[in-house]
Amino acid sequence: MADLDQAREWLTRADSVAVMTGAGISAESGIPTFRGSGGLWKDYKPEDLATPEAFARDPRLVWEWYNWRRETIAKAAPNAAHRALVELEIRKPRFTLITQNVDGLHDRAGSGKILKLHGDIWRMRCTACGANWPDRRVPLPKLPPHCACGGLTRPGVVWFGEPLPDGMMKEAEHAASAAQVFLVIGTSAVVHPAAGLIPYAKQSGARVIEINTEPTAYSAMVDCALLGPAGELLPKLL
Ligand code: NAD
Repeated sequence: MADLDQAREWLTRADSVAVMTGAGISAESGIPTFRGSGGLWKDYKPEDLATPEAFARDPRLVWEWYNWRRETIAKAAPNAAHRALVELEIRKPRFTLITQNVDGLHDRAGSGKILKLHGDIWRMRCTACGANWPDRRVPLPKLPPHCACGGLTRPGVVWFGEPLPDGMMKEAEHAASAAQVFLVIGTSAVVHPAAGLIPYAKQSGARVIEINTEPTAYSAMVDCALLGPAGELLPKLL
């Protein structure tokens, strides 16, 4: 298994880089991950709240959770790892940032185009007319929120069991297959189809570098697994 120096050399030499981030990259900004400590809200598991079934059963409860998450995220700021990816984007002729995060911290750090596989917590979608709009109010004045058409509004995110936004997975696969280096940062890599991009990039010939505080199911198959916080390791890798 390669070490940090080897990984830095691969990254320096690569013209084409793709990055996939997960909740772990925002952990040092104070945003709880789903898996690991601190991810629970009132004893509910995220898998019991981030589903279409939970929303159909109790939209107010689901919205209370999202309101709490929006409050937590609003207090947070991008960290050194988010900023390092902005720098990497500037350096590389071909660069794609794929994220599973919905928190908007990559946008706030200054990243350009971002493939948000799981949507954006700062957007709303009407379940009746399909309208889609940004909303950064914290806290939301009335739960559950409603659209101007009177329809019930849902968060603009992808829930467990739902398909990803049209065409986005294709774009992510294209970037993963074209990349010389594929960087995987702060994801437990258990949520599909996003996790499938890791073996896909590897089979397509990319050097895969993982950064995580813990080993994951893919650590043994990547070319380099760096153990530690993204905010410390990513700046060192650059
Ligand atoms: P996850 O919670 O399943 O896993 C987080 C991973 O990050 C773990 O493997 C953990 O070991 C690692 N980690 C924790 N702190 C780290 C650090 N400082 N540096 C590097 N790694 C660290 O998250 P996931 O894999 O992204 O999948 C969960 C789903 O939850 C995603 O679909 C995502 O949409 C959603 N989610 C998003 C946010 C967010 O937007 N910030 C937060 C929680 C969950």
